[in-house]
Amino acid sequence: MLYIGCHLSSSKGFAAMGRQALELGANTFQFFTRNPRGSKAKALDEADAAALRDLLAERGFGPIVAHAPYILNLCGAEEKNRLFARETMADDLRRLEHLPGQLYNFHPGSHVGQGIEAGIDLIAEGLNAILRPEQSATVLLETMAGKGSEVGGRFEELRAILDRVTLSDRMGVCLDTCHVSDAGYDLVGDLDGVLTEFDRVIGLEKLRAVHLNDSKNPPGSRKDRHACLGEGTIGLEALTRIVRHPALKRLPFCLETPNDLPGYAREIALMRELAET
Ligand code: FE
Ligand code: FE
Ligand code: ZN
Repeated sequence: MLYIGCHLSSSKGFAAMGRQALELGANTFQFFTRNPRGSKAKALDEADAAALRDLLAERGFGPIVAHAPYILNLCGAEEKNRLFARETMADDLRRLEHLPGQLYNFHPGSHVGQGIEAGIDLIAEGLNAILRPEQSATVLLETMAGKGSEVGGRFEELRAILDRVTLSDRMGVCLDTCHVSDAGYDLVGDLDGVLTEFDRVIGLEKLRAVHLNDSKNPPGSRKDRHACLGEGTIGLEALTRIVRHPALKRLPFCLETPNDLPGYAREIALMRELAET
């Protein structure tokens, strides 16, 4: 069973996203925990969260992915920015406990000139302040394209963060295919090699979700511009090998392609067909 879905708007609430996912042929999905700029989240509707919880169980969904706002930066240069990121993520994680056992994905951060080592230390420090032993959510570091001063363009950088986090069993990684290709990993020519490298450096057991995107730019471009599936430099053949790969079989695949809802439905159907034939 392939778990595949797409990024959905959370503006109509939790259960509405679950129903929309089903209409699109999805059995997983991703959503922003709040406005991408990180403004205050609206009060949590417990009945709505419970309705989604029931729907996920009844309809056999895979894990779903809550995505932190882009603006958060655990390794910002100014302390007030770092604290804002911590407080927002801690609040997101408290709220996510209404949907037990799900995934919380975030962009590790940008070191903004402090250097990659300083960035890694600050990210780990932030995570150590946020993670709770009793939480049921798994927090995912997203693999990044490495644009600007982004941390997480190399698997080694994610490993270094995990090594410094005390509750690292509450942590995992989300592999974004556009980002990994833009970062210079050869997904098209050598998928097995990339996954072997991931396993050697991070460990495949840490891989908990995939963002399935094509890329507008060539490998190593460090750009981060997503393309629709089959319309970019990764291409349908390589994306098909990814959804069929035995090492990735039980993971949720989320599309973050530039699509409207009918476009997402078409890409979900296409990848289901390509995964199963
Ligand atoms: Fe992301
Ligand atoms: Fe992504
Ligand atoms: Zn991206």
